[in-house]
Amino acid sequence: MEFETRAIHVGQEPDPSTGATIPPLYLSSTYTQHAPGENLGYDYSRSNNPTRASLEAALASLEGGEACAAFSSGLAACSAVLDTLKPGEGVVASHDLYGGTFRLLDKVFRPLGIDVAFAESGEPDAFERAILTLKEPHLLWLETPTNPLLDIVNIASLSALASRYGLLTAVDNTFATPSLQRPIEWGADYVVHSTTKYLGGHSDVIGGAVITRTAKQLERVRFLQNARGAVPGPLDCYLVQRGIKTLALRMQRHCENASYLAHALRDIPEVRRVIYPGLSSHPGHLVASKQMQDFGGMLSLELEGGLNAATRFCARLRVFSLAESLGGVESLCCHPATMTHASIPREIREPRGVTDGLIRLSVGLEHTEDLVSDILQAFKNYDSSAISCSIGAFR
Ligand SMILES: *Cc1c(COP(=O)(O)O)cnc(C)c1O
Repeated sequence: MEFETRAIHVGQEPDPSTGATIPPLYLSSTYTQHAPGENLGYDYSRSNNPTRASLEAALASLEGGEACAAFSSGLAACSAVLDTLKPGEGVVASHDLYGGTFRLLDKVFRPLGIDVAFAESGEPDAFERAILTLKEPHLLWLETPTNPLLDIVNIASLSALASRYGLLTAVDNTFATPSLQRPIEWGADYVVHSTTKYLGGHSDVIGGAVITRTAKQLERVRFLQNARGAVPGPLDCYLVQRGIKTLALRMQRHCENASYLAHALRDIPEVRRVIYPGLSSHPGHLVASKQMQDFGGMLSLELEGGLNAATRFCARLRVFSLAESLGGVESLCCHPATMTHASIPREIREPRGVTDGLIRLSVGLEHTEDLVSDILQAFKNYDSSAISCSIGAFR
């Protein structure tokens, strides 16, 4: 079956006892046994729950993996994969990482004795050099596209490099979703998600998931899911599963809207640089064209005029909400330097491109014209009639 069909049907068989087309939400924490130890596969909902099992089946299928474990947040999912390492073993990660993942590596796992090396993702042999600095490298951790600079790394060549050195590869696929990119098909062993974002898709649930290439690779993660206990509640699983049913359709429109904005905003004098993997000027454009089905709904802008211009722009937006997070149906705007990346010192973030003038947009599903007009009115004194024809060309 094709992706869209599996998104709607895997794990969603009608309920055999009532015929309910949508399987019920199983809130029960415990399960009645016929005789001691005799049950129907469920005994206690931290260990297993039918609503969670449905979501896990769907996600494994969509990522092309063998198995999935769902977690209470994206970071709980990242933790579970990092928890498979033993003290003395090492992880190589790209420098441009989700802030919470960086904090987990630096402030939680490093003090526990896990070796961590960061690679500058722009440099071709940076990952190999980083692997060679570790005594017992075990895991390569990738994100692509990255946050907020939308850097692209080549999953196939880096996971091949990892396996030459005996490392497993984990890819945080939150930005792309399996609708646009399936890292296991390119050689990754683990895929992690913050289901809070596009998979849930409606900004009303926090969740995470780990999907593995083989069932064996999930064993330890599954053990940790129960032993550590960071499981999602059944209602959260239900909401994510409902989101997944429209994922392909939503991603298509997120991509169309983001691409339209990216092309339209290139010609505006207030914008110094548009960062979008779908633009041929983006350094990762060719790799993204190969490993992604489309270029995603995230877009970053570097404004002329630094902090003042960025602050004024954010305050004037009406359709875009100024908020952290991403991937919902509504458009969001984020100022990384004062919001998501505020904890990173300026001397470190600026040379990496996270400047005071950088704006990150999560382009939602509103009408494209409303999104464009909102951005244009936010640039005070801008005459929008001047670019209407160039926008029309990308419709
Ligand atoms: C949000 C996010 C996470 C963390 O997920 P939570 O659900 O907030 O715990 C991890 N990686 C990426 C790329 C994210 O965007």
